[in-house]
Amino acid sequence: MTLRQTLAVVLQVMDHGDADKIVTCYSQELGKLSGIAKGAKRSKKRFVNKLELFSLLDLTYAESRTSSLMRLDQAELLHAFPSLRQDYGRYTAATLLCEQMLQWTREHDADPALFTLLRWGLTALEQGQPPFATVILFEIRMLDLLGYRPNLAGCLRCGNLTPTRRPYHFSTSNSGLICNPCNRETDHGQVPVSLETAKLLHAAQHMEGSKLDRLHFSPDAIRESLTLLRYYDRHLLQREISSWPHFLASLPITD
Ligand SMILES: [Zn+2]
Repeated sequence: MTLRQTLAVVLQVMDHGDADKIVTCYSQELGKLSGIAKGAKRSKKRFVNKLELFSLLDLTYAESRTSSLMRLDQAELLHAFPSLRQDYGRYTAATLLCEQMLQWTREHDADPALFTLLRWGLTALEQGQPPFATVILFEIRMLDLLGYRPNLAGCLRCGNLTPTRRPYHFSTSNSGLICNPCNRETDHGQVPVSLETAKLLHAAQHMEGSKLDRLHFSPDAIRESLTLLRYYDRHLLQREISSWPHFLASLPITD
């Protein structure tokens, strides 16, 4: 049996029987990867305190002959992101990032840029960057990498992005903005968006993660951005990401 090695972030851990754990990670080499850690609940050496949510591991694994699950051979803990467990806002933000990776990616479909984005998001949260801004930028970048970049450069119909008395709307089904004069639709997949929010999100599409703190979101822009991204997620995935309500409830800006 050939042993392989990869960097991986733990997205989900479940007990399996009396002794084992089933772990799902997002790995650099293989994308999403699920594996069984035999004896993980008892082993003092190979896995103890390593297979925890958010942990960055150097993982050694092998393909199984009898199961689609990998056999996890051993894990070296590179970083545990302990501070993400000590603050509810950061914890729910990090949980949301991990659930996004679980829902949006397929097993054995590697995308090193997504892996880098996940590491960036967890690191930014650990370093004290505001959770809401980190989640907004992570989402905007993730949608880019997945090929679902929303069109925020201007109205989908007339191209304008100029002040109007009434708000723009974001159409989840058309993946872009529609200004009020062009908006003749009555579908329910529309989210009101101010000009300020549209311009901030558009800027975020072009900004490097290291410059995150240059973006200043007002409370209204935060609320609008997160609402837009949540509904866009739900439209694209055709289901709700369960971490969204927990994350939004952790923010002082929600009603
Ligand atoms: Zn228009």
